[in-house]
Amino acid sequence: MNRPLVIGNWKMNLDFVEAVHLTQQISVLLKNQPSAHTDVVVAPPFVDLRSVASVLEAERSNVALAAQHVNPHEAGAHTGEVSQAMLARLGVTWVLVGHSERRTHYAMDDAVVAATLSTVVRSGANAVLCVGEDESARDDGEYASVVSAQLASALAGLEEKSRALVTVAYEPIWAIGTGRSAAPEQIHEMATVLRRELTALGCGEARVLYGGSVTGENAAAILVEGGVDGFLVGGASLKSDSFVAIIRACDDCYAGLANRR
Ligand code: PEP
Repeated sequence: MNRPLVIGNWKMNLDFVEAVHLTQQISVLLKNQPSAHTDVVVAPPFVDLRSVASVLEAERSNVALAAQHVNPHEAGAHTGEVSQAMLARLGVTWVLVGHSERRTHYAMDDAVVAATLSTVVRSGANAVLCVGEDESARDDGEYASVVSAQLASALAGLEEKSRALVTVAYEPIWAIGTGRSAAPEQIHEMATVLRRELTALGCGEARVLYGGSVTGENAAAILVEGGVDGFLVGGASLKSDSFVAIIRACDDCYAGLANRR
């Protein structure tokens, strides 16, 4: 098992005052009981990034900063968009790429996902490539082929030296924000498929995360039985207690597995 990674995706929630409060609460909880084994990242809305970065710096926190999206172009006539260089100046070291909400609601197709992924890793930042099937693909038994196609299209053109910066998040769309997490055995099946494909694409070291209605209660079972390296968390990342509970579950599982080795 790789070192676990937990990323909180705040989506379009929390203004900068609320974001500062949540960041302070997470920092205090992790200062009182540091996470020994788990890497932690938060992905606030763009307008909160500067404030959250200041709190993390003031608290000397190990929590890293992610953006939820970036435009693949360098600069210019892209009203409403933000560039990778702008994010880097703010201390953003992670970027979510191709979240299903961007693919579904903002016309982010596979070509734009691939271009965005390439922009992020060429800059030296870490990319979290989000893949996952919708409910009809799951019902039709097409889930593995849908997800494999998303993966291949995003990774095919990547330079070898950038591949170490890729993390993959398996997020079945039907499990996101529904309270209906995928079962550990479904996650295990997809993690196995993803690892096989990643190896074939030259990204065999990439961490594989799961996202979709993860909570402090189901995190341990998913981590151990699902065979993933951590989580991309939406709803449960908006409260410090539930977010830190997921981090603690990862820490405990990793320590337990390490002791058994
Ligand atoms: C997400 O949006 O990436 C996500 C996994 O959301 P939730 O945890 O709320 O299902």
